[in-house]
Amino acid sequence: MKSFFITNPCSYREIGMKYKTDHLNLGAWQTHSVVNGPDERFVLWLQGCPRRCQGCINPEFLAIEPSHEIAVDELAEKILAVSGLEGVTYSGGEPFLQPEPLFKLSTHLHAAGLGIVCFTGYTLEALQAHSDSWIQRLLAQIDLLIDGPFEQEKVASLRWRGSHNQRLHFLTERYSKYSTQPETSATEVELVMTNNGVMASGFWPANFLERLTKIMER
Ligand code: SF4
Repeated sequence: MKSFFITNPCSYREIGMKYKTDHLNLGAWQTHSVVNGPDERFVLWLQGCPRRCQGCINPEFLAIEPSHEIAVDELAEKILAVSGLEGVTYSGGEPFLQPEPLFKLSTHLHAAGLGIVCFTGYTLEALQAHSDSWIQRLLAQIDLLIDGPFEQEKVASLRWRGSHNQRLHFLTERYSKYSTQPETSATEVELVMTNNGVMASGFWPANFLERLTKIMER
């Protein structure tokens, strides 16, 4: 695994990672989720993040290396075949490492009427200041951006966020009703059985996974 600690927005291209402009490199995906954004969503965890935040809840997606590569058209087809979805959430890893193929996927999803939520470890301002036109084009496709890295010393139970520094940016009207709703303080976690075991998704308190593992071992 390559070791990076880059805090400014960058893409696979900028850090020298080989990539195909019409493929996405995914760490994982989940066809139905209700804890990763409004309503029922398909969730994509993009592989690779150049940051190393202490307490990151998705360390398995940080390595910047090929994982599950899939053509954008094929992935769009898979997502659109799932019924009952309100939208799709991009998480990671860092979605903005792959702005070009993610922009292309987003155009398919929006054309089909789905909404797009994106988590990023960068701030909105840092992304807006970046010169990469694909980053700007991807930003223009996002309805709700949840920005900022996880900061352990600011840990909090907030709607769709794990620390106080993280912010909700309603970039379109689609989810703006949530901007005036009171904060939730409940921790929301989904456990999904997969061929490789149990996958946890959502936002959980410190030591939750360790406690859960012990309970399951029993
Ligand atoms: S918290 Fe987010 S930005 Fe930080 S290392 Fe994990 S995936 Fe990357």
